[in-house]
Amino acid sequence: MEIKKGIAVSPGIAITRALIIDSEDYRIPRRKIMPSQRMTEIRRIRNAFKDAIGELTRLEVVQSGAGGGKIKDIFAVHLRFLHDRSLRKRITDLVHSGSVTAEYAVSTALREVASHFTKVKDTYISERAADIYDIERRLLRQLLGKRREDVGHLTEEVVVVARELSPTQTAGFNTEFVKGIATDAGGRTSHTAIVARSLGIPVVMALEDFTEAVTGGDTVIIDGNRGIVIVNPNSETIRQYEEYSLEFAELEHKLDAIKEKPAVTRDGVKITLLGNIEFPDEAELVLQKGGEGIGLYRTEFLYLNSPSEPTEEDHYQAYAETIGVFKHRPVIIRTLDLGADKYTQSKRFAPEPNPFLGLRSIRFCLQNLMMFKTQLHAILRASVLGEVKVMFPLITNLQELMQAKMILRDVMEDLDEESVAYNKDIQIGIMIETPSAALTGSALARDVAFFSIGTNDLTQYTLAVDRGNERVSTLYSSVDPAVLRLIRTVIQDAHKAQIDINICGEMASEPQCIMLLMGMGVRTISLAPPMMPEIKQIIRSVTMEDCNNVARKTLGMNSERQISNYLRDATRKILPEAF
Ligand code: PEP
Ligand code: MG
Repeated sequence: MEIKKGIAVSPGIAITRALIIDSEDYRIPRRKIMPSQRMTEIRRIRNAFKDAIGELTRLEVVQSGAGGGKIKDIFAVHLRFLHDRSLRKRITDLVHSGSVTAEYAVSTALREVASHFTKVKDTYISERAADIYDIERRLLRQLLGKRREDVGHLTEEVVVVARELSPTQTAGFNTEFVKGIATDAGGRTSHTAIVARSLGIPVVMALEDFTEAVTGGDTVIIDGNRGIVIVNPNSETIRQYEEYSLEFAELEHKLDAIKEKPAVTRDGVKITLLGNIEFPDEAELVLQKGGEGIGLYRTEFLYLNSPSEPTEEDHYQAYAETIGVFKHRPVIIRTLDLGADKYTQSKRFAPEPNPFLGLRSIRFCLQNLMMFKTQLHAILRASVLGEVKVMFPLITNLQELMQAKMILRDVMEDLDEESVAYNKDIQIGIMIETPSAALTGSALARDVAFFSIGTNDLTQYTLAVDRGNERVSTLYSSVDPAVLRLIRTVIQDAHKAQIDINICGEMASEPQCIMLLMGMGVRTISLAPPMMPEIKQIIRSVTMEDCNNVARKTLGMNSERQISNYLRDATRKILPEAF
């Protein structure tokens, strides 16, 4: 039995067998081969191509049915590459001239082609680089005899164990079978963690070398409450955890029962609970958990889930579906927040040295106007369907906000010319997620209807700590005195300017932060749907006087450790079962 401690990302207990997912970092043998081995390597290449073609042809047939059109087209493109004689010749030439292994030759030749594609200005062609990498992986799988574990066709319950998962990979998990997740990498507010939490299954991240301690099929306990994983537990530990798991399920059940009750403090102050979503079908979950609207729709997942750029109609349909669930309630659509750890297919292969400080979010949109306008066009069209608001992410200065608003106005003029209906008074808001925005809140507030504090990014940029890097995760804390002072400033500026203010970072899902945020003046929060019942329970158990005291004491403290201990103790008194 081996116990490992990581970061508790999503609560709950899972006890079942491990499924290890490859990182897809295939180890390519670089050793030189003897001249006598060349023919063997060339035969291996021939077989790998033959098997890859066979595999793709079978997949193409499966996709021939209704709805498989787009995917079938992709397979057809891959097949054309695999049949290309010049590509095969380049690979075999490498084996002959360089005396390298089949794997090395395949990887080198395909990466040459991909890098050639990425340099082409035409987006359609540069995006084909992703196809080349896919073909490379398929051939390497054949050569290395390493089949990717297929998470799409599970028939029994597993806990997924991986070095690292992408947000898109995670979003594809079927929770009927995937009962928990444990990863070596990641932080509590990484986008993979955010998606994993929305699945409502226990998740532990930042386990460092956990994948080396576990083999596929081992029994693993994931304790998402305490951030612990146990490999091959003994029977006594399993028994204790089974009991604990039942108690936790009972607590969840009890909390779920309050979903119909209002989020009102004991002295009658109403708190509005909105939901954070990545996909339209999650809107229903927000409603079920007692949410009163959508405070953050992360629309970039439309891109991350699709092999090609979504059309305006794709955008519109997704928004219409979400608004349909919350007809007369607010739906805040955040414009694309691509970049950093959320790549489009084409961008993944043009990495930046410091992606979180690079061309991400609103900056990316302001440099890709066609893409940005397509989205704004769709949001405005959807604005007549309900109470839609538009929100720009990662604003760092007033000029950026002005530019974004000007583009929105351009799109409005286009719609006027096309005689398409939209809400001319649509509310425009911005996310406050950089120290520069937080410090200039009073100026920014004049040009927007609301602020939404994105504490995930605000924390990372204030403390200079990468939110997804497990090696510095102990330094990452939204209750660090520096972050709290910025949050307080933003709330005060919003109040002075009489604009709406809400919090949509993961801090709003943390039970121990709720009294503090309320005491600092927040009345609207947007959070992960699975956390809503617990947060509502806390709100219903306190008075504003309790919250004001907590905020006053916390803001007088100068040490993060002291603050987090104090907040944990204060919350434990209100909701002891949650700790
Ligand atoms: C944030 O940064 O707090 C936020 C809500 O945005 P995201 O997590 O999508 O970066
Ligand atoms: Mg953010």
